[in-house]
Amino acid sequence: MKRLLLLIPKCPGPAAGKKWNAVWPADVEAAVTHSMWKLITPGPLVLAKLAQEMGRFEVHLTDEAFQPLNLTKKYDIVAIYTVTPNVKRAYELADFYKKQGTYVVLGGVHTTVCPEEAGRHAHTILIGEAESIWTAFLQDFLMHRTRQIYAQPLGKVSMYRSPIPAFHLIPENARKLIPIQTARGCPHGCHFCNLRSLYGRSYRPKKMQNIEKELRAVKQLNPHATIYFTDDNLFCSSTHADALMQLLQQYSVTWYANTDISFGADPVRIRRAYQCGCRQVLIGLESVNMQNLTGLDETSFKRRHFGRYREWIENIQSQGIGVIGSFILGLDGDGTDVFDKTAEFILEANLFGASITVNTPYPGTVQFHELDAQNRICTYDWNCYTIFNPVIQPKKMSIETLNAGYLKVLRAVHSTEAAKRKLEYFKRKIKEAGNDA
Ligand code: SF4
Repeated sequence: MKRLLLLIPKCPGPAAGKKWNAVWPADVEAAVTHSMWKLITPGPLVLAKLAQEMGRFEVHLTDEAFQPLNLTKKYDIVAIYTVTPNVKRAYELADFYKKQGTYVVLGGVHTTVCPEEAGRHAHTILIGEAESIWTAFLQDFLMHRTRQIYAQPLGKVSMYRSPIPAFHLIPENARKLIPIQTARGCPHGCHFCNLRSLYGRSYRPKKMQNIEKELRAVKQLNPHATIYFTDDNLFCSSTHADALMQLLQQYSVTWYANTDISFGADPVRIRRAYQCGCRQVLIGLESVNMQNLTGLDETSFKRRHFGRYREWIENIQSQGIGVIGSFILGLDGDGTDVFDKTAEFILEANLFGASITVNTPYPGTVQFHELDAQNRICTYDWNCYTIFNPVIQPKKMSIETLNAGYLKVLRAVHSTEAAKRKLEYFKRKIKEAGNDA
């Protein structure tokens, strides 16, 4: 048996890499860190299962967000998952294992969009969705005939054949919130999102029978786990979402999901979602400045629905489902008034949570190419790409003003008074939703 390690290096997080932002005090840092969902990265669990099915590999998995990496253990292959914020750590580990004589593979989002850079640190790189090329690589490894690059065409992986991830490899301390992906793809094509570079334009759901098997496997692992549906946009296909909710009715689960604001338009669907266990949705609202939303996605979907944001958030939350609104500060339309406006919006809409970040162009996105062409990228040190740390020159303010305004928003949103008001609001809403259900 060959020993294989699937390795997810840690991301620097808000507390690190603050080359461009040294102003956050410890209490704000702690509040932001506390509000983040802590989740194992799901992709390597699928690769683990595929390797186990071959019967020739002893498979190990380490996610540094949950467990320390034991560097004294020896492996035949180390396969490392990369995203831009963790990639420097990934390269450091790849170089370490290479020196030890271990065969090193790099894959994931950053490797897919920066293959030449990643190729300097690995024997083999996997480009694209790795499920369809991983087994071919492993077979070649066993036959001593590996190639430097394994790639698959964009968006061609059939989710119909996707195996049940190796959930049993999730470390004990990461079993409270467990990821299940039921489909890939999103119709909106936001310019700051690298979904299109990874998955192409298609929407690809899994078979409902397979989703049910995943659900059962998760329940077996931890009957009390909350499920996080990591689909890019869970409700963008109403046929798929309705079938999924029908399935979930048969199980007692609490779940969270990513979706877009149009979920708030249909009170009947919201009610069904609540009744089958939905308690939080993460929605990319992006900005309270309408000017930013024009052209932010391919059809200006977000601008077209901007006028309904408050009403639809209220529709969702009044049924007992908390909305985590995601916002980007420092977009090109933002002047210094954006900070007060953002804080006001979050507080007045009684958002259950807010993920507030600064405009960060990830490599592989339309936005990265545009800002690069405008010479506005201040650093290519990927450790700074935490989304909490300005890495570009904003159009209408200095980096210092952006940092100070960002801190002001965080302080307002995370204040004790705001938390108290929100708690009262939700107690009332949950009670009302429970009475009506
Ligand atoms: S709505 Fe979300 S998932 Fe869809 S393209 Fe935009 S950022 Fe990406």
